[in-house]
Amino acid sequence: MENKIQIVFATGNVHKVKEINEIAKGSGIEFILPPEGFDPDENGKTFQENSFIKAKDAAVLSDSISLADDSGLCVEALNGEPGLYSARYAPTPQERIDKLLKNLANSANRKAKFVCAMTLVDKHGNILNQEIGECYGQIATRQAGLNGFGYDPVFVPNGYDITIAQMPESLKNTISHRSLALNKMIEFININLIDR
Ligand code: IMP
Repeated sequence: MENKIQIVFATGNVHKVKEINEIAKGSGIEFILPPEGFDPDENGKTFQENSFIKAKDAAVLSDSISLADDSGLCVEALNGEPGLYSARYAPTPQERIDKLLKNLANSANRKAKFVCAMTLVDKHGNILNQEIGECYGQIATRQAGLNGFGYDPVFVPNGYDITIAQMPESLKNTISHRSLALNKMIEFININLIDR
């Protein structure tokens, strides 16, 4: 019989945990929210560093192996902004989208990528593995769609003519930065941490 393992996923974002459990379906791994009190100081200088800070905080708090991601949207014509500041670009999700569209209003170059760094730590906070996933696309001229979260309504992945927010989640989960990073992480966990 397959041995299932539970891994704390270091986030307060319930939507993210739902999304990664969808991606991890059938892997034998279940991701769960950290205990109350999870409030890391995300002051790293890279996505990798921030994912490590979050994973370590959750591991120490839960006394358990923990995985964290740190992700964001990098827009070429804005020199990589909002990047690390994607969640803090403006006060609300809608204001963040409005600000992005306004800042790109006169730009013909709409190239962008979503980046996701993941760090897996043991229960003491020591790094076991790090992975990166990237999803390339364009920023639409106006928002469309209601699925997903964050900048999904303005991001059109390469090879598609709809935004991520117009896709079923099952499709997002095959192309997203988070799914690319998570699938590599699951492979690492399966090879190194699960006894069969
Ligand atoms: P964090 O990884 O939780 O720090 O999230 C950073 C921010 O990047 C989020 O608040 C969103 O604004 C944006 N972001 C990260 N992943 C996605 C995604 O899959 N879709 C849309 N926006 C995202």
